[in-house]
Amino acid sequence: TTLRAYNFNAGPAAVPLPVLEQAQKELVNFKNTGMSVMELSHRSKEYEEVHNRAITLLRELMNIPDTYEVLFLQGGGSLQFSMIPMNFLQEGKTAHYILSGAWSEKALKEAKDFGETRVLASSKDANYTHIPTDYSLEDIKDGAYLHITTNNTIYGTQWNEYPTSPIPLIADMSSDILFKEIDVEKFSLIYAGAQKNLGPSGVTVVIIKKDFLETARTNVPTMLSYSTYAENNSLYNTPPTFAIYMLSLVLEWVKEQGGVKSIQKNNEEKAKYIYDAIDNSEGFYKAHATEDSRSLMNITFTLPNEELTKKFLQEAKERQFIGLAGHRSVGGCRASTYNAVPKEACEALANFMTEFKNQN
Ligand code: PMP
Repeated sequence: TTLRAYNFNAGPAAVPLPVLEQAQKELVNFKNTGMSVMELSHRSKEYEEVHNRAITLLRELMNIPDTYEVLFLQGGGSLQFSMIPMNFLQEGKTAHYILSGAWSEKALKEAKDFGETRVLASSKDANYTHIPTDYSLEDIKDGAYLHITTNNTIYGTQWNEYPTSPIPLIADMSSDILFKEIDVEKFSLIYAGAQKNLGPSGVTVVIIKKDFLETARTNVPTMLSYSTYAENNSLYNTPPTFAIYMLSLVLEWVKEQGGVKSIQKNNEEKAKYIYDAIDNSEGFYKAHATEDSRSLMNITFTLPNEELTKKFLQEAKERQFIGLAGHRSVGGCRASTYNAVPKEACEALANFMTEFKNQN
C-alpha cells in the first residue's frame, strides 16, 4: 500500500483504506459489467443492487424500523436546512431550534424564510463550549418540530443524550451519524451529508418516519419534496451513483468491523488518547468544550499562543498529520476522529502532542 497521511480533516474526511482499495480494484470493470459503477445506467439491475444494498445495510446497522424511509438526496446538509421548513413548517405553527453551534444557526436562518421560529435554547453566549441544557420541553407542545445538531463540527461538542421531544424531533447528524448505537425512534427525521462518517461528499442520507412524512406540505417543488424520493426509492432522477456506491462500501466495512457497537468502542478509545494528551499537559493544551459536552468526533483545543499554534501545525504537517487547523471562525486546533480514522493515527497524534509540549 502507498503511504497514507494521518488524515484528521473535518470533512470531506478519511475513508477506510480497504474501501478505497476495493473501489480501485473495481474502478474500470465493476462485477464483469465491462464498465465502472459510474458508467452504469442508474436504471440498470447492477446499479439498483448497489443502491438497495446501501439502504439495507444502513437499516441493519442503525436498526431502522420499517416505519421509516431511508432516502438519498443531494445538496448536502445545507439543503436540508431549507427542505425541512419548506416541507414541515406549517402555517400557524412554530419551529423550535436549539442552537449549539454555527451549523444550527444556519439551519435556523433558513427556517425563518418559511415561518415562525423560536430559539428554545442557545449556548452562543458561552462561545458554544457546551450543549445547552437550560430549556423546557413543556411549552413546545404545539410546535411543528424541534431541531437539534447532535455534533458540532466546528466547536467540538456533542449531545450525550437526546431529548425526548413531545413534537417531531429532527436531527442534523452530519458529523456523527453511525458513531454509536442510537435509538432512531426518538427522531422523526435524521439527516447527514456523507462526507464525514459515511464516505465521499455528494450524497445526503435522510431517515424519515413515514407518518411524519405524510404531514408534509404538498405545494413544494418536486425535487425539494421528500415524498418524491420516498415514492421513487430515491430514483426519481439520476442519483449520485458513485457516491452511493462508496457509501455502500463504507457500510460493508462498518459491518465487517463488528457493527456500530465496535465502531463506538473504537471511537471512545481514539478520542481518549487525544483528550488524555490535553488533560495531562498541565494546561499547555486547553480543550474548547466543557467536559460534559466533549465530542468523540471533533476534538478542539488551543495552545498558549498564536506563535506556538503555528509552530505546532507546521511540525504536525511535516510528520503527515493533516487537517489539524481549527475552523477559520474559531482558530486553535481541531482533530476530527471520524469512524474511518485509524486508532494508530490518534495514538500517534497524542504522542506528538505530548512530545511537542515537552519541547516547548
Ligand atoms: N451540519 C453539520 C453539523 C456540518 O458539519 C456540516 C458541514 N461541515 C453541514 C451541516 C453542512 O453540510 P454540507 O457542506 O454537506 O452542506
